[in-house]
Amino acid sequence: MRTNYLILALVLLPTLGSAQTTPTEIAAASDILTRIEALQKRIAPGETAIDITERNDRKRSELIEHAGQVWDFEMQDLSDHIGRNPEVGWAEFEAVDTLVKVLLSKGFAVETGVAGLETAFVATWVSPAGSDGAVLGLIGEYDALRDIDGPFHGDQHNAQTPVVLSAALSLKAYMESDRVPGTIRVFGTPAEEIGPPAKTIMYEAGIFNGTDILVRSHSASETSRARAGFGVCCLNINEVKYVFTGRPAHQLTSWNGRNALEAAVRFYTSVNGLRSTLRPEASIQGVIPEGGIAPNVVPARTVVDYYIRYPDEVYLEHMTRMIDDAARGAALATGTAVEINRYGEYRDGIALGSLEELYFAYARKLGAPRINEVPQRPAGYEETGWVTRDIPGIGVGIFSSRDTYHTKGMEADGMGDIGHAGFRLDAQIMSAILYDYLTNPVLRQKVAEEHTELQTLLGEYHNRLREVYAPEISEPSSEDPMQPKWKN
Ligand SMILES: [Zn+2]
Repeated sequence: MRTNYLILALVLLPTLGSAQTTPTEIAAASDILTRIEALQKRIAPGETAIDITERNDRKRSELIEHAGQVWDFEMQDLSDHIGRNPEVGWAEFEAVDTLVKVLLSKGFAVETGVAGLETAFVATWVSPAGSDGAVLGLIGEYDALRDIDGPFHGDQHNAQTPVVLSAALSLKAYMESDRVPGTIRVFGTPAEEIGPPAKTIMYEAGIFNGTDILVRSHSASETSRARAGFGVCCLNINEVKYVFTGRPAHQLTSWNGRNALEAAVRFYTSVNGLRSTLRPEASIQGVIPEGGIAPNVVPARTVVDYYIRYPDEVYLEHMTRMIDDAARGAALATGTAVEINRYGEYRDGIALGSLEELYFAYARKLGAPRINEVPQRPAGYEETGWVTRDIPGIGVGIFSSRDTYHTKGMEADGMGDIGHAGFRLDAQIMSAILYDYLTNPVLRQKVAEEHTELQTLLGEYHNRLREVYAPEISEPSSEDPMQPKWKN
């Protein structure tokens, strides 16, 4: 889900590099940003990364080489195979079947259908030296995009799990031969492109619990890294379905019915009416997937599905409250009932300088193409943001297409030389980062320290936002100085 990146980058140009976009956010964050900077000075991620990557380490060089070979001889074909057989989110049955078979054949224990999701899985391998070491997590996706001509891999998710497997298998070989204790976990996460967000569901079910670090890869139209801090790729989102229930009746005796379509239309219009009292950065878009069945029957059930987006989650909650109230009002006005079902939430994620700089130092060292030296705005390594708040991690994304996200061009590059070269590097860098995490206590300590402090700062930032927004997000009352004093 990276389509909005370019558009967002244009909108956010004045504050490029920081995740705070509105004047309110910037005011709320000013002191927090100073503290993030101080934290970065203290842990010195750039220097640490150079220190680590320039160190002579034969084991690590072998591991990186091995990850490349696993990609060349096994995983590239698997990636292309999934690419040629695209399946949309929640229906990635063949991809999961194939991936699970590979994992089982490589000695992983696999649990499928985790968190009640048919195409989710967790594969676990425990070192013969024991589990008394780091738990290394790798996230893979495999869903294709929906299109009028059928599904296609225009976001290159086909490569993600094969990339992860190349890294995992080279690590496994190293841990076996050198008797290094620890655990490797591969998380198969479905339907990145369709709500409800699978990773949030898996997170809430505790699937990621106990994992020390998480890595993930994604297609990229350049090789860049994020600044440390918190932010999100495509705004904070609430996905909400409003289900109106009326009473059916024949058209000619419509007075016996209660019209749920009237409720939906009033609601949709009320939301448009709210726009003038919402901040300009708000993005609200809805569809009516169910609007009744037949014109000669009073519609008894309708559904309005909204994506409500805002740069920060505090104002987003205020907007969502107003929209929920508009739905209740429409139900009241039409004698119908409304059920409000918030089925998805995406929030700011945490980006760690200690891992972003390490990834980027490897990208430079291994000669990654199309390097953009300008650090990008912070965003979590997975789009829902929730997992990144709990577990430190990194999204690796080496240049893998000349085209933009969600295009046939990106799909073609994903199964050609450009994609193959990018994915190979993704796998090598992923294996190196996990190796460093496993073997270098200084890095582990820095990652933990940075993550804990950014968690605290994110909480403080939200409190600051609540304070600055207080006058406009509180409900009006008769005591409110902005209310007219006259009564009639
Ligand atoms: Zn994607």
